[in-house]
Amino acid sequence: MTLQQARWAAQRVLFYAYMFFSLFTVIGGWITAPLMSYLFLGDWRFWRHLRLGFRLWLHMFGFLGRLIRWENHGFMFSLPIAAQPFSAPNRSIVQLSSNWESGSSCGGCSRCCDKIACPILDQERKLCTGYNSFFWRYFNCGRFPSVEREIDYYGCPKWVMRPSRLGSRVAVHPEPAADPGYEGLSID
Ligand code: SF4
Repeated sequence: MTLQQARWAAQRVLFYAYMFFSLFTVIGGWITAPLMSYLFLGDWRFWRHLRLGFRLWLHMFGFLGRLIRWENHGFMFSLPIAAQPFSAPNRSIVQLSSNWESGSSCGGCSRCCDKIACPILDQERKLCTGYNSFFWRYFNCGRFPSVEREIDYYGCPKWVMRPSRLGSRVAVHPEPAADPGYEGLSID
């Protein structure tokens, strides 16, 4: 493991610890609101997002329930702890479906966000308000999709695995995306 990978791993471990602290103290996320706001929304000014913060707080408990029920078959944990953060899918792993007609845009689709009733999705503008935040880049959103189970779970009509990567695991340090840019969960 390189020094950089160790840094990414340490940041994820600290994030998990912070999430446990917030969940199990119930009020932990509120008394550290600037940090919570920064991690999920990329903005320390928590007072701008109080309503969203409340929905996110409720969502965290629902999300924990999904994990306990193993509803998503564990793909959330398919991401290695030391994996490079990403803001776009890795084109060496996935490609656009031949049936997809909106190019790199998600068109009017919000299926993946709707599936988990993500509170960060701006329903009116169909945009992710947490785009490029720490959570977005370090976990599954920014790099979505990275394993086949993810595509199946969300019913994503846009992406398919490259034939050579079917059934593969997420690479710790994958090749850079061939077409960098924003192509993930946010919808335009
Ligand atoms: S990434 Fe999400 S919003 Fe975009 S096409 Fe797939 S399911 Fe729909």
